[in-house]
Amino acid sequence: MAKRWSCVEAGCEWAVVAADVEEIIPLVQEHIEQAHASFELEEMIEAVLEDAPPPSA
Ligand SMILES: [Zn+2]
Repeated sequence: MAKRWSCVEAGCEWAVVAADVEEIIPLVQEHIEQAHASFELEEMIEAVLEDAPPPSA
């Protein structure tokens, strides 16, 4: 099942969809680090993942 994660930082509209949890975690952490100079625990990311339709290839 594909997963979707939306950034919760104020004013940030960034969201990402990936094929599975293992794939989405590094994408989210990269965004948090580069866009917000912060760090998000893997557990915190997994906690708010939503199921998503597969990315249209
Ligand atoms: Zn963000």
